[in-house]
Amino acid sequence: MAICLVCGDENGKGCICGTCAGKTDLEALAKRMIAYDLQNGDNPVWNNIIEDQLNKKSFRWLVFAVTSDLPAPRKDYLRVCAAASTYDNKCGVVKNSRPWLYEITGLDNFMKRKGPGGETGIMPSEKDSLLDSENLSGDERSYVAGLVLDALYKDYRYEEAELVLNYLKLFPELPFCPSVNMADYYIKTRRYDEAEKIIDKLRSQISCTDNDIEKSTVEKLEEDKEKYLKKKLQGKREYYPNPDENKDDMLKKYEDFISSIGVDIPDYYSFKKMIPDPIPRDQYPSPKEIRDTDFDSFVAFSLGTTGEDVNKDCIYEIDAVKVVSGVISGERYHTYVKPYKKGLEKVAESAGIPSDILKDSPQMWEMFNSFMDYAGDLVLVGYDVMRIGSKFLARAGRYANRIVNNLYFDLKRGALNASGEDRVPVSADDVAEMYLTLRNVESKDKEISMEDMFAEWE
Ligand SMILES: [Zn+2]
Repeated sequence: MAICLVCGDENGKGCICGTCAGKTDLEALAKRMIAYDLQNGDNPVWNNIIEDQLNKKSFRWLVFAVTSDLPAPRKDYLRVCAAASTYDNKCGVVKNSRPWLYEITGLDNFMKRKGPGGETGIMPSEKDSLLDSENLSGDERSYVAGLVLDALYKDYRYEEAELVLNYLKLFPELPFCPSVNMADYYIKTRRYDEAEKIIDKLRSQISCTDNDIEKSTVEKLEEDKEKYLKKKLQGKREYYPNPDENKDDMLKKYEDFISSIGVDIPDYYSFKKMIPDPIPRDQYPSPKEIRDTDFDSFVAFSLGTTGEDVNKDCIYEIDAVKVVSGVISGERYHTYVKPYKKGLEKVAESAGIPSDILKDSPQMWEMFNSFMDYAGDLVLVGYDVMRIGSKFLARAGRYANRIVNNLYFDLKRGALNASGEDRVPVSADDVAEMYLTLRNVESKDKEISMEDMFAEWE
């Protein structure tokens, strides 16, 4: 049974009973409903309705019924306000409502007039747009435009967002929400000076209000601006969107857009360079093995990996030492490597590597380049290296677009060949010593068992 929103009469057939229908200002009623405090409001009729609903916010959807007899631009405007009022700070609509928002605000018509070839070519068309409707006040138009701006850039529709932004800039004064929308958009497109000007204004505005939601909205803007500006100054990666789908395309779209408005993207953080196109697997040489211990200059190395599956896991650390003519030299190589997935970062962290170190570490392809510069064409000696290490390095090589022909010596195979004994080395030095011992054993006295060899170390 419907309850009349005006008198609370339970016999009403709709949201407003027959008695109240004629004498109610529907627009004023809708506005009171939109502004109504759902937690602490003092209208007993409304509180009863709200209590009966699972989601308190769905009270605001009654605005759609209340406004159904109003003329189009007022009706649509109030419905947009009702949709935005379910958003915490009323400065946006939820993701699912964005297509509806574009439709109801007549965004297409607005774009025809404001977009390339607009203004002069196409006159205001049959359907009004809420963004520039003469039936809305300036504050109302800019409120709608702010909501649309917010939705557009979150949908990666940057060109249209920019047109709405330019339209908003024509207003001499803006209410709270469109100011917030503009500042947020400026931050997300890395224009911190512009964002700061708006935030300064907002800060002075909220100093004389006790609206906690507005205060925290401005604080959040301020924090975001500071955070990304600091990253910019440190040469670190600034804001990037985080799309659920078509990630590569969307990030490229973002980069192309911010470059087009004159925002520099540091080369090393450009998405195109962030994840290079690898050499295809079938075009990259598979690692070659050497089984003879007839060399005494080499690079001994060990890897920290998140697991053994080269297709799923990653290198997070590499430790290496150079051996020249049988002597361990002081020429060392060590670096942590940034895991390319968040999940892998967690695994590496659980191995005791702090996340802030990992985040600032080189990518695997950067590591590969510097490691191979260090190793030159020396043999690479490692433990179980044919099964694991060489595969991980080949993958890094594919991403580095660098083909190398270094031979690998697998200490595990070599050791097993010599004696059948097995021991896992714990560092690059350990690898080097194991190889040197093995080499001496093999060349000097093949009769000495691996057991004796290990006993020597203890
Ligand atoms: Zn009534």
